[in-house]
Amino acid sequence: MLLYNSATRRRDEFVPNVEGKVSMYTCGPTVYHYAHIGNLRSYIMEDILEKYLRYAGYDVTRVMNITDVGHLSSDADTGEDKMLKSAKREKKTVMEIAKFYTDAFFEDCKKLNIKIPDVVAPATSCIDEFIKVIESLLEKGFAYEAGGNIYFDTSKLKQYYIFNDFKEEDLEVGVREGVEEDGNKRNKADFVLWFTKSKFDDQELKWDSPWGVGYPGWHIECSCISMKYLGESLDIHCGGIDNAFPHHTNEIAQSEAYLGHKWCNYWFHVHHLNTNSGKMSKSSGEFLTVSLLESKGYNPLVYRLFCLQSHYRKSLVFSYENLDNAVIAYNKIVAKVLSLLKEAAGDVDETAFAEGKAKFCAALDNDLNTSLAVTAIYDALKMKTTPATKLALIEDFDRVLGLDVVDAAKKQLEAEKAEADKAASDPFIMEIEDMIKQRAEAKAAKNYARADEIRKILADKGVTLIDTPQGTKYKMD
Ligand code: AMP
Ligand code: ZN
Repeated sequence: MLLYNSATRRRDEFVPNVEGKVSMYTCGPTVYHYAHIGNLRSYIMEDILEKYLRYAGYDVTRVMNITDVGHLSSDADTGEDKMLKSAKREKKTVMEIAKFYTDAFFEDCKKLNIKIPDVVAPATSCIDEFIKVIESLLEKGFAYEAGGNIYFDTSKLKQYYIFNDFKEEDLEVGVREGVEEDGNKRNKADFVLWFTKSKFDDQELKWDSPWGVGYPGWHIECSCISMKYLGESLDIHCGGIDNAFPHHTNEIAQSEAYLGHKWCNYWFHVHHLNTNSGKMSKSSGEFLTVSLLESKGYNPLVYRLFCLQSHYRKSLVFSYENLDNAVIAYNKIVAKVLSLLKEAAGDVDETAFAEGKAKFCAALDNDLNTSLAVTAIYDALKMKTTPATKLALIEDFDRVLGLDVVDAAKKQLEAEKAEADKAASDPFIMEIEDMIKQRAEAKAAKNYARADEIRKILADKGVTLIDTPQGTKYKMD
């Protein structure tokens, strides 16, 4: 499989550290608000990557953190803790906020068929690990104490910038407009590992540490949680593209300084979902959620299809018009699967199955080309083979795509059967159907007077006949 690696800036052949096994880490949500559908685009694409690796036969272990402390309103260690800000806004405790939005996140994941990672670890459950790593970084000379906080010293690294070619003087961190520069930092790129002194004294969650009572910085969480559950060498690290700098850059700096060797081999970044008015953000303005889409009558899996129809390394513009096109595409696939279920004929032709599957794998092996993988469904439907083979292929692809198209078609089939059973046990419906049959016979015999008479008899009973190219239908008052 070829996978674009942000660290090498090219598509690399994916080779895990241990044959047959993959360790995968995902930056989890900062649980101070609902996830917006942009955040969920990242999680959908990461879910596809995980499911495809499993489909390809790898034994995957996936770990995700929940950021419930330390993520400040600016990624550059300035501003207030997002969790605290939200707790004040909603007049709740930080832990109540964390629980509420963590549950809401997993409900959204369930609706979107996003699998829950094998390990989900809230940052507040790993404080001892953070302290251990920070102590070691201090011992090794990669960290320093200043003004009460512990900082990572980026000048001690041979190479700090991994994903981009920033020049020190162009660096945004600490010198953004309206952001006060942190005078304690020795270098502009340095970042906080542990806060004991900050501008806000009302931080709700604090822990004892060798440097005084305080709380961890956001970046140290992901390094430590990944190392705790996945060991010293990581195969794939995922996140949205905004996380590449400074978050992932800082993760690499501190992890490799601590370990003394290379840490993660592949960096998988999902590009942003935008609206016509720009980037979607949890902290500003109105944003789109899965519940909002549902309240407008959209099936969340249609949003999943919408995401799969474009490549994860391209930014994607959301509009209801585009989502409506995904609704049409989704319904079309379900309708075709429904006809396959009705035919249910023939055996699975192994050769045709292998041919269909090869196209699907070729698409995903090419840097996770999900839009071509969706096209593989249409290709399967057009194949000259048995309905059973087509159905088997679509069911097989759905192990990765997670669109539930076969389930949706099965539900429609059951509903149609229930409707037919109801009709069969209702004498009035049987009478209408018998009259429709008699009218068709009368018309065939050119007895139009009798045909009109039948229409009138039924109309008097509140039944209107509608002639369509598919035969006569009826409507009851
Ligand atoms: P957060 O909850 O803010 O920590 O973000 C959760 C995940 O969503 C991270 O991997 C972000 O990089 C990602 N993300 C944030 N905004 C977007 C967006 N508009 N489109 C896609 N992914 C996003
Ligand atoms: Zn992270």
